[in-house]
Amino acid sequence: SYDEFYVKSVVRSISDWPEPGVIFRDVTPVFKDPKAMRITCDAFIQRYIDSSITHVACIDARGFILGSVVAYQLNLPLVLIRKKGKLPGETIAEEYSLEYGSATVELQKDAIQEGDTVLIFDDLIATGGTVLAAASLIKRLGGQVAEVAALIDLPDLKGSQRIQDSGIPVFALLAYE
Ligand code: IMP
Repeated sequence: SYDEFYVKSVVRSISDWPEPGVIFRDVTPVFKDPKAMRITCDAFIQRYIDSSITHVACIDARGFILGSVVAYQLNLPLVLIRKKGKLPGETIAEEYSLEYGSATVELQKDAIQEGDTVLIFDDLIATGGTVLAAASLIKRLGGQVAEVAALIDLPDLKGSQRIQDSGIPVFALLAYE
């Protein structure tokens, strides 16, 4: 649609960052453009307004920005999935592999309870590793992941396919081949 085309025109592509051969999709210009931000958040709000979702779980750090607007507007609890060492109190952790090395995400034990129906939110899906680690944290606490929402999907990296193969639907506003 025209609206999605507008948002796509605002996302900035940066070649060879953070390393040679990578095209980084920079969403910070979307945050800086109120029209693009409004189109983006409204698309997610419309999608989930009449859903059975009980919690929005957003991923450190750019997922926080979109996820918190959506949770506020839907009047739903906001839960933070954070990089290792950031959350106080009792937490559970999930380690996952990256192209080089590994990363760990954490969730507070009391953030999710048995029966919660959770929307996972991030800015971008690449290999899907981050989202799948987040999903297992939620499942370990008895939550059910209703869907994964992201501003951008990179379908060539097959992450959204991996997530769907694990039984979790994926909704992304934009795709970059
Ligand atoms: P994945 O775990 O490989 O799916 O990588 C997704 C995570 O890395 C998300 O939390 C993104 O914020 C970040 N990420 C990976 N590639 C990009 C990019 O091109 N632009 C912005 N974020 C990215």
